[in-house]
Amino acid sequence: MARIVVLGAGVAGHTAAMHAKRRLGRAHEVIVVSPNANWNWIPSNIWVGVGKMTAKQVTFPLAPVYKRLGIEYHQAKAVGLLPEGDATDATGAVDIEYTDADRRGQPARLRYDYLINATGPKLRFDLTPGLGPDGHSVSVCTSGHATQASAALDEVIARMKAGRRQTLVVGMGHGACTCEGAAFEYVFNVDHVLREQGVRELADVIYLTNEHELGDFGVGGMVFSQKSGQVTSEQWMQSLFTERGIRVILQAHVTEVAEGVVHYEQIDGTVAQQAFDFAMLLPPFRGVALPTVDRAGTDIADKLFAANGFMKVDADYAAKPYEEWSAKDWPRTYESPVFPNVFAVGIAFAPPHAISRPYQTPSGAPVAPAPPRTGMPSGTQGKVVAQTVVDRIKHNNPTAPARTASMTAMGAACIASIGAGLRTGAAATITMSPIVPDREHFPETGRDPKSTFGEIGLAGHWLKRLLHTLFIYKAKARPGWWLIPE
Ligand SMILES: Cc1cc2nc3c(=O)[nH]c(=O)nc-3n(C[C@H](O)[C@H](O)[C@H](O)COP(=O)(O)OP(=O)(O)OC[C@H]3O[C@@H](n4cnc5c(N)ncnc54)[C@H](O)[C@@H]3O)c2cc1C
Repeated sequence: MARIVVLGAGVAGHTAAMHAKRRLGRAHEVIVVSPNANWNWIPSNIWVGVGKMTAKQVTFPLAPVYKRLGIEYHQAKAVGLLPEGDATDATGAVDIEYTDADRRGQPARLRYDYLINATGPKLRFDLTPGLGPDGHSVSVCTSGHATQASAALDEVIARMKAGRRQTLVVGMGHGACTCEGAAFEYVFNVDHVLREQGVRELADVIYLTNEHELGDFGVGGMVFSQKSGQVTSEQWMQSLFTERGIRVILQAHVTEVAEGVVHYEQIDGTVAQQAFDFAMLLPPFRGVALPTVDRAGTDIADKLFAANGFMKVDADYAAKPYEEWSAKDWPRTYESPVFPNVFAVGIAFAPPHAISRPYQTPSGAPVAPAPPRTGMPSGTQGKVVAQTVVDRIKHNNPTAPARTASMTAMGAACIASIGAGLRTGAAATITMSPIVPDREHFPETGRDPKSTFGEIGLAGHWLKRLLHTLFIYKAKARPGWWLIPE
């Protein structure tokens, strides 16, 4: 009987565990280790953050689902890795610490034949003084954060209803942030709610970002093919922001969030501050690097993890100038180069390089959007790695060829809702392929013009709402869940 341990029950890990168990049945063990009792459909946190959904609508308890599927679940966090095992047993192991009420703080050591690391991002609010819910800004990264953001938004709306002008800043809380799409979506939802509440004319809404130009999204922007010809994502976004009267601060690294004031610097050397009554600023993401030792107890963490805490996989991590980076550098199998029974998927794997051109301020601060790893690629990687592991177990061949899912051959759709409601909602739907530009196959823009486009309308909102229901249905492992694509 083989044993697969999956670290993390987010989009990538949950998908991997469900597919692995479905294919392996009772003959083999699938174990999930994750610190939160609930699964969270993170994209819908945007709607929680503007009071259109509750935290309950975007989460559900994991334990009953895993029980039904026959997956062993440990509500715990991984705290250490022993890929060569320990003095008593050469089987790989992971050290965990329980987080549930009954066993909180208790340690345990789990052995594995295959390990799938899907621990997602570590939210590093601490890299910017004063950033985040423990400081002076709010976040929508978790359903709890989003609930707080919604309450803070209600307060500024109440003040506007009393006739007071308010300033709302939404964006990125550090120059090296990723996930610009989420901040973009949130600022448009805020704008929509302010209009609904009849207070928009009393609000100064500002989008503050590390992107070099609007529409960069950490993927270097896009060129859309439309009936009228080609249009860049920058032109497209510019018209959206202008139409809605949202002021934009570009190329910014936030240096501090003080009470009611965000301090930032820009790549042209500008050092400035912006007063606010409400600020939703996303944190930079780092990886959940685990202390890792070999059988002798020697630290080998740098063999498995990059300096930013993400796990190194089958990518080319050689340092090169931006112009020399290529699509070929990106991973295909997500297998660790040092331990072929260890994989990292979703946000947990280390991207080989930025997709957007990185800049810095004269003081040396990064203004370099990190590559996004959104839901679709995260889920697909989880599924593909589960298939690799299942192949190896079923054929009793630990070196059987790995399945592949490269972000240079994979498309992604970003549907940014611009408000909720069956009749009043709308969405900006951006589809691109591939996610990582491939200039060898598409010399002009790096992307396939037939599959890269942007659209705005109510239909996109309906699709986004439908995806909310479908992905929660799927994550709950309801009948036929595996037929719903990642
Ligand atoms: C506000 C917001 C909106 C977004 N909107 C969209 C969208 O519209 N479309 C889209 O495609 N993507 C969107 N994304 C991105 C999407 O949420 C991520 O791509 C996706 O969640 C990544 O999946 P993951 O499994 O890698 O990480 P996660 O889903 O974050 O899962 C990580 C898991 O690891 C667990 N974990 C953490 N530490 C440990 C540890 N030490 N041991 C064990 N487990 C651990 C966590 O508890 C969690 O269960 C959004 C992100 C944010 C923040």
